Amino acid sequence: MTDPFLAPDPRLEGDPRTLERPGLPGHLVAQAPLPTDAMWMARALERAREAAVVGEVPVGAVVVAVEPSEADPSRGDSAHAVTRRGRLIAEGRNRTRQDSDPTAHAEIVALRAAGRRLGRSRLPGTTLYVTLEPCAQCAGAAVLARVDRVVYGAADPKAGMAGSLGNLLQDPRLNHRVHVTPGVLAHEAGTLLTDFFRARRL
Ligand SMILES: [Zn+2]
Repeated sequence: MTDPFLAPDPRLEGDPRTLERPGLPGHLVAQAPLPTDAMWMARALERAREAAVVGEVPVGAVVVAVEPSEADPSRGDSAHAVTRRGRLIAEGRNRTRQDSDPTAHAEIVALRAAGRRLGRSRLPGTTLYVTLEPCAQCAGAAVLARVDRVVYGAADPKAGMAGSLGNLLQDPRLNHRVHVTPGVLAHEAGTLLTDFFRARRL
């Protein structure tokens, strides 16, 4: 079986794992998930659930550094093989109400924490996991931060700028483009949001 981590770095075009979605507005070029994506998204969902507990819209985000590391011989990997494992850098959840801050979305909270942790304002080599498709602000922040990938859970047909309303992450006119994997644990992320808003209407 081919280990996807050993495949060449994915590119927006020509990657065999790329799923073309020409029908979507913004012409999202979506990539299939990597084996570790669901694990990190589960962690982002934990942050989202914490937001719900304190009455914030339940969205969570995690920033992960992807770096080469030695292969594990116990799994029969080749001695020279290099796998790409993730390392947690920072995480966050929506806190707009708590902070009276309209910009305090989960992605912004996590990206700011990641910048502080790494001591730099740009975050190449990282993946941003978020339970809901990023809005214009957060997609813009991902571009500014130069993240390599954005992996999101539920699509946001009302505000999503990673394929739904538009695609700020892959606009060829900008000087950085982001690989995107949509729909990871989308059902869990969407149900969390639906249940939250249903409970508020009762
Ligand atoms: Zn946002």
